[in-house]
Amino acid sequence: MIFLDNASTTKIDKQVNQLIYSINEEQFYNPSALYGKSIEVQQKIEVAKNDISKALNCKEDCLLFTSGATETNNLIIKGFLTNNKQAEYIFSMGEHPSVFEVADNLKNLGYKVNFVNLNKDGSVDLEHFKSLLNQNTYFISIMHVNNETGAINDIKSMVYLAKQISKNVIFHSDGVQAVGKIEVNLQDLGVDAYSMSAHKFHGPKGVGILYCKNLSKLKPLFLGGGQQKGLRSGTENVSGIISTALAVKNAVENLNLNANKVKSFRNYMKQKLLENIKSSMINENPNNSPYILSISFKGLKGEVILHMLEEYDILIGTGSACSSKKSDNRILRNMGRDKSYIQGSIRISFSKNNTIEEIEFATQKIIQVVNELTQKVA
Ligand code: PLP
Repeated sequence: MIFLDNASTTKIDKQVNQLIYSINEEQFYNPSALYGKSIEVQQKIEVAKNDISKALNCKEDCLLFTSGATETNNLIIKGFLTNNKQAEYIFSMGEHPSVFEVADNLKNLGYKVNFVNLNKDGSVDLEHFKSLLNQNTYFISIMHVNNETGAINDIKSMVYLAKQISKNVIFHSDGVQAVGKIEVNLQDLGVDAYSMSAHKFHGPKGVGILYCKNLSKLKPLFLGGGQQKGLRSGTENVSGIISTALAVKNAVENLNLNANKVKSFRNYMKQKLLENIKSSMINENPNNSPYILSISFKGLKGEVILHMLEEYDILIGTGSACSSKKSDNRILRNMGRDKSYIQGSIRISFSKNNTIEEIEFATQKIIQVVNELTQKVA
């Protein structure tokens, strides 16, 4: 099987999976209990935090663990809500549903929510962003790398611009498709909060990392046993957390090596598809993630292409896995793509585990399937 839907999830690294097993066998204790075995487990969680903080250049006491980025995004947005009626919120039109749906809900509840548009290349429209900033801007959430197109946003510049106009603004970025794929230096980015998810970089599913510069201002979503400074009650996913630290370390240490490998796959596939298929359009920006190739074919249906490729044991995506059942595509629509192209969009997302032979075979099959379908609809 050729797996080219790595933006939806990645295969867990063997070494990371083995670590989960050994922790569950030998260190299954509840980290909140008072005996020595539990204290050892608690210490291991602290070591994991320390390893993650070093890999991402942030302070370790700014990290929390959750059940995934959906929870992290909800916690950050809802945990910073204010009763101040003047407070304004900015979200981009490109956000993952775990941010966008929360933003939309806030708007319906009467909060002052603004949505910033995307450029044709999928990045956030900086001029529109600037026009929305004012002294009442209280909270901003702009993703680092778009999960459908791979467009990279210049978060550092946006943080700078925002703080010039609203000094105390809280700037959050969803970094799920960035960690382990492009360089992430949290101190340098200057964000106040950042979301991550272990299963996107060959770690376990169900483990999210939340970075927040000022945790003392965050309000919890859950009340309960008071774990993690009372901000995320619930027994910690010990093996998940410790193995996530290993996955982060592996991903960051091999970042350039892996990125160069997938970049060559992406370049090869993109060139061949454009050469051999008429009426196709790549959805990308000049500084795109090498891990994602979004392409639209006029007059076709992405879902049909997906199922025809599945017959050859090739798995691809049509967009965000969480919203792939919806026929519309908010992101491509906001980028100004024509409806006749939007429906025929597919997302190929690579991983370090792919081989050039897989890429060559998949490329040949995509060309064959798309050309067959194009002839049928002509
Ligand atoms: N944010 C982005 C950009 C994503 O791509 C995803 C997963 O598709 C999520 C958030 C949600 O992550 P999780 O599966 O950990 O809830």
